[in-house]
Amino acid sequence: MGTSGRPGTMAPDKRAGTIGPVTRRSPTEPVGHTTAATVEEAVEVVRRHGGRVTASRRLLLRALFASKGHRTAEELAEEVQAPDIHLSTVYRNLEELERLGLVVHSHFGHGPATYHLATAVHGHFVCEECGKLIEVPGTLFDDLAAQARSRFGFTVDPHHFAMLGRCADCC
Ligand SMILES: [Zn+2]
Ligand SMILES: [Zn+2]
Ligand SMILES: [Zn+2]
Repeated sequence: MGTSGRPGTMAPDKRAGTIGPVTRRSPTEPVGHTTAATVEEAVEVVRRHGGRVTASRRLLLRALFASKGHRTAEELAEEVQAPDIHLSTVYRNLEELERLGLVVHSHFGHGPATYHLATAVHGHFVCEECGKLIEVPGTLFDDLAAQARSRFGFTVDPHHFAMLGRCADCC
């Protein structure tokens, strides 16, 4: 769950002015995301926030930029392919990159969290029968988000958890 949630507060994230371009595509897009187009831009964001740019952090960013797919920390650790980088280091780095708004994670059913760059915001449909993942545009939740806000003062985050159901093949 979000740790920075301030219900009813619409004030823009103070950090947004200092972390470079922040694009808001739809009302469902969580605030605080940082868009970095390249590994170097991401490294720059880390630096600007006083973070250390370690070799392992750079390798992890490279792996994240190499594919837009959803990968667990274990899969990322495998992709980084450096024998001296342990899973705990990957977790720590992911946490830090997430704090800076560069990375987001989401949960698909009962599986472990999956990570990707914060640049591609979307929702997830996951089939409970066959496990298929369908990425859907975040705008699909705009009506829900608008109603949740106006009727309950609640801000939905459609990315954090997948919507579970059945795909067309399994219906
Ligand atoms: Zn989570
Ligand atoms: Zn995703
Ligand atoms: Zn299915």
